[in-house]
Amino acid sequence: MVRPYFTLSAPDSCRDEGFLIYKNKLLTETAKIQSHLIPVLKTVSDPEIPVLSVLDLGVIREAIEENGIVKIKLTPTYSGCPAMDVIADDLKAAFSEISKKAEVELVLSPAWSTDWISEEGLQKMEEYGIARPLSESHDKDVLLGEKKMVKCPQCGSTNTHLVSQFGSTACKALFKCDDCQETFDYFKCLK
Ligand SMILES: [Zn+2]
Repeated sequence: MVRPYFTLSAPDSCRDEGFLIYKNKLLTETAKIQSHLIPVLKTVSDPEIPVLSVLDLGVIREAIEENGIVKIKLTPTYSGCPAMDVIADDLKAAFSEISKKAEVELVLSPAWSTDWISEEGLQKMEEYGIARPLSESHDKDVLLGEKKMVKCPQCGSTNTHLVSQFGSTACKALFKCDDCQETFDYFKCLK
């Protein structure tokens, strides 16, 4: 099954070789991922948000099999993110289960942004109880406490307020809903 975040509008040269071009929702960045590797990539998840696969997260820039070796280019969500070492090891382990050797290379530029998370990934994130990132300018407003825009993942209310700039990890902030009184993480916008 082709998921909605894979487009088949790949250049002919790529399509012939069984590539799918992965595009994020803003279509500003693309990743080249061979379609036969996708089922394995889907099994590798973000250790911090286990419902998100590395494809949902948009951290895979390239995945190509050459001479029996799977070569993967991985972009960290932010520099120094401890989850990336785990993801690299998990990728190698996932491919070794189907007797393939994988090499993982970190690609720092262009830098990952929250725009690279797929729409499906954002929905899974909300279902998991983490509020999705807002746009860059709205993100500033809510983190300065100037606007109430962060949607409570429990009840859907935007009557929420910032509790702490840092939630369970550095890339999240802690919010509280003034309607259902639940506290929850908000995934900060990262550009
Ligand atoms: Zn609520």
